[in-house]
Amino acid sequence: MRLVLVGPPGAGKGTQAEFVAAHLCVPKISTGDIFRANVSQGTPLGMEAKRYMDAGGLVPDQVTIDMVRDRLAESDASDGFLLDGFPRTVPQAVALDKMLADLGTSLDLVMELVVDDDEVIRRLSGRRNCRSCGKVWHLEFDAPVRDGICDRCNGDLFQRDDDKPETVAERLRVYGRDTAPLIDYYGPQGKLVGMDATGPVEDVTVRAIDALRSYGA
Ligand SMILES: [Zn+2]
Repeated sequence: MRLVLVGPPGAGKGTQAEFVAAHLCVPKISTGDIFRANVSQGTPLGMEAKRYMDAGGLVPDQVTIDMVRDRLAESDASDGFLLDGFPRTVPQAVALDKMLADLGTSLDLVMELVVDDDEVIRRLSGRRNCRSCGKVWHLEFDAPVRDGICDRCNGDLFQRDDDKPETVAERLRVYGRDTAPLIDYYGPQGKLVGMDATGPVEDVTVRAIDALRSYGA
């Protein structure tokens, strides 16, 4: 099965990607992992990407697309894969269709994790990270006993910039502008499966696997 997972920040995409890929016995391919691998191996694409990142800029689409193309051509992805974090835009989706066609194959399904904006804000803005041990607490779902202090190691808790309400609102805005149009791209192709991603992580996984089963995965 060749699958793409999309969803807004805070939808639990990374976690679900792990479970679903393991269930399908396909590699989970995330753009984050591909970037790190290319940079640490010093590939020409990795060095190019690093130049942009070091300059504080965005890595151009074409560099990302080329990295994904190289990764999909590796042997472990020949029978299927789960893509996480790509495509992020309609031009990237068009590029993905083309690279798969060049490999003599095509995408089977796009699974959309559906979570409304208020829920995303609630999930992300409640997170607090421990400065010492890295544990992530949540003011509402998994609160430490003492305010601002980690129960595990007594470290200070802080809120990552990414989780601040104004940053979350901006991430949602970018998602709505760049990524949400993927729904209109894949919907008419009959490849889109929308899935309620609220509630406990395990319930979402069960729902995801049930949905895939109904599509013959
Ligand atoms: Zn701690």
